[in-house]
Amino acid sequence: MVQVVDGAKIAAEIQSDLKKELGAIMSKSGRKPKLVSVVTDNDIDRSVYIKAQARTAASVGIDFAIEKIKSSISEIELIGTIKKLNDKKDVTAIIIHHPLPKGLKHDKITSFIIPEKDAEGIHPFNLGKIFRMEETLVPCTPGAVMNILERAKIPLYGKDVVIVGHSAIVGKPLSMMMLNEMATTTVCHLGTYEEGDIKSYTNRADILIIATGKPKMVKADWVKKGVIIIDVGINRVDGKIVGDVDFDDIKDKASLITPVPGGVGPITVSILMRNVMRAFRMQNENI
Ligand code: NDP
Repeated sequence: MVQVVDGAKIAAEIQSDLKKELGAIMSKSGRKPKLVSVVTDNDIDRSVYIKAQARTAASVGIDFAIEKIKSSISEIELIGTIKKLNDKKDVTAIIIHHPLPKGLKHDKITSFIIPEKDAEGIHPFNLGKIFRMEETLVPCTPGAVMNILERAKIPLYGKDVVIVGHSAIVGKPLSMMMLNEMATTTVCHLGTYEEGDIKSYTNRADILIIATGKPKMVKADWVKKGVIIIDVGINRVDGKIVGDVDFDDIKDKASLITPVPGGVGPITVSILMRNVMRAFRMQNENI
């Protein structure tokens, strides 16, 4: 019988643990962590992700603020805004919302956040620490995937893990995190799909993780019986949210699967809050 992961339940558990940790922090330091989200003015009301950040921060007890930027902001002005936030003692962590105004590169801009305040764990320094097995602030989606597997008590040592998608925020850091757990890790991408035999890789997987942004691309004939499937994809098709995996086609072959919506997605914001808490501890060594 397939186990369908309940992402909302896991998210609630992470938040409850963080809330307890925050209570302990408060009683020692009398201070609270604060997350600042840098958002272009016309995205504030329409962004689901920002609403989720505000809601999750409130549920944990973390202070949350929005730093509004104009859509006409220049690169130099935005870097100035980030430097001010870096210098503010009461700001624990910073997240810079996608998409940035035209012409501004998210990768370049986020590298101006000091690594200790990098809420999303995407600063080159924090990504580099994963290579050295010194993970602290980790990218949120890979962090969510690892958390799901840990909670389901899935051993990774020596397991065949296949990741489809090699983006800098999902596939690449996740592959390093898997290697750190001694999984035998294969990363597939568009080149594998177009020039190779992608199913020969995915059919070997004990654990298959898909992050391509291609709706329902993974079907039952891509996997072996008993596989564990983590579907990172979030795609809007005909007004409905679907994953990169064809859930109905594949579910009877899997031993564990994450649904979309309701799987990885809800956990990601909780991992963001876990990063904020870790950042607070790093900045206050005595607590
Ligand atoms: P990107 O577009 O940055 O990366 C997609 C990756 O998939 C690329 O490595 C690309 O390869 C690869 N790819 C594309 N088409 C194919 C194919 N046909 N076969 C094999 N590989 C392919 O996307 P993201 O990593 O940012 O996001 C991936 C998905 O995950 C999206 O649906 C996104 O919405 C979702 N997402 C979900 C999050 C969550 O918290 N649940 C958070 C972040 C993203 P190449 O680079 O070679 O073209």
